[in-house]
Amino acid sequence: MIDELSKTSQSPERPLAQPAIRILGIESSCDETAAAVVENGRVILSSMVASQVDLHAQFGGVFPEVASRQHIRTIYPIIESALQQAHIGLGELDAIAVTRGPGLPGSLVIGINTAKGLALGSGLPLIGVNHLEAHIYSAWLNWPPVSDSTATITTPEPRFPIVALIVSGGHTELVFMPDHLHYQRLGATLDDAAGEAFDKVARLIGLAYPGGPSIQKASEGGNPRQFSFPRAWLEDSWSFSFSGLKTAVLREVRKLQEQNRELPVADLAASFQAAVVDVLVGKTVRAAQKLEAAEILIVGGVSANQALREAIQAQAPCPVHIPPILLCTDNAAMIACAGHYRYTSGQRDPLSMDVLPNWPLTEV
Ligand code: ADP
Ligand code: MG
Repeated sequence: MIDELSKTSQSPERPLAQPAIRILGIESSCDETAAAVVENGRVILSSMVASQVDLHAQFGGVFPEVASRQHIRTIYPIIESALQQAHIGLGELDAIAVTRGPGLPGSLVIGINTAKGLALGSGLPLIGVNHLEAHIYSAWLNWPPVSDSTATITTPEPRFPIVALIVSGGHTELVFMPDHLHYQRLGATLDDAAGEAFDKVARLIGLAYPGGPSIQKASEGGNPRQFSFPRAWLEDSWSFSFSGLKTAVLREVRKLQEQNRELPVADLAASFQAAVVDVLVGKTVRAAQKLEAAEILIVGGVSANQALREAIQAQAPCPVHIPPILLCTDNAAMIACAGHYRYTSGQRDPLSMDVLPNWPLTEV
């Protein structure tokens, strides 16, 4: 048996190993400054994230000017430690990928200008990456990260056609992906993003920012059927709407306050979370059925939500892939990963590349 295996591994037909492609990813679209090195699009050699969550908590949301100034302070140390942790010098990289949009203009500029400086100084190609595309590509990253790039990749590669739900603080989009780098937007939110709704409702019921994790935690002791909050199904469309739900929670809170009653925070949180999860899961499952998806991907910060994870796994008509929480929230490994697929498709961007704060996924 051992002989047979060694024979196959030395067979002359075996293709020569391709040289590894290593990409530095840089992310600064919102309130995380991040850098990572990814090999061959799937192996995370390093991934560093400096979150500004504590800095913005006092404002109850991201304060754009504070965010850009913090990116300036953090971006070089983060890139240096990502390279150090990957035991790699700039000269051993193949390209620099950076988030070009969508995101806060003043934050994007910091990442893009840093990437340009590095590209100019090193002669490496520059690749502008769409943040939403990168969230989808987070599903291609191997997890847990392996310390050695020759180790086996254990995370299976997602299979096409894919229905992807991108749910974050800034976005809620349902996307059909027939193949690599091809996207058809099925629907998006008409008002608040799902994460934004979590953040706003958390504030309404007196929970800390960021609202997603607070609401999830508070829900643990609550009854999801205590309040029947509205589900905006918006029949015949794949669009989402969460502003009516937010208003319904506000009305309930006001009513309780007028009656001088203590807020049943756990029940409010659980009932709100159940309403969001019902709609996100219901639409994703229907899209997967209709388009005969081979796989469902759920990505973005809100995909960290445990109730969402359990509901989609229970109802999906096909396998569901949800990246681990550390890859769901903003990170640069996903930028390097998407950058890899862009790089191998031939994309190179000029040093005159500008930020695209409202860049839709379908115009990538
Ligand atoms: P963005 O960059 O668009 O702000 P991220 O991908 O960084 O989005 O995700 C942040 C969002 O995810 C926040 O709105 C936060 O409330 C939400 N979030 C994080 N964890 C959870 C959770 N467990 N449940 C629901 N929402 C969550
Ligand atoms: Mg973020």
